[in-house]
Amino acid sequence: MEDRKNDLAQIKKDLLTKRDELITRIEKIDQDFKNGRTPDPIDQATERENDDVLSELKDTAEFELSLVNEALHRIDEGKYGICSICERPINPKRLKAVPYTTQCIQCATRG
Ligand SMILES: [Zn+2]
Repeated sequence: MEDRKNDLAQIKKDLLTKRDELITRIEKIDQDFKNGRTPDPIDQATERENDDVLSELKDTAEFELSLVNEALHRIDEGKYGICSICERPINPKRLKAVPYTTQCIQCATRG
């Protein structure tokens, strides 16, 4: 039992680090959006393409951030590692690979 507690403390630490990373990444993307506006029409086209990529990156980061927050919340509630859909324990290997997942592989792949 003590082991599991230590594991959770470690996971929580990792998730908090991940959350900081994501927040920094999102802030940086926002900054990139604001920076480097050019009056040149050709450069503007390139900028628009960059903006598309940036906004995709931002969406991904924000989605991950919401999952990380959810996982932290579940740790506090004592529900971490339990599938949010079927309520069965999530495979520890999966948790290790994707610490902020809230669904077991069966439910996640079912869509
Ligand atoms: Zn499940």
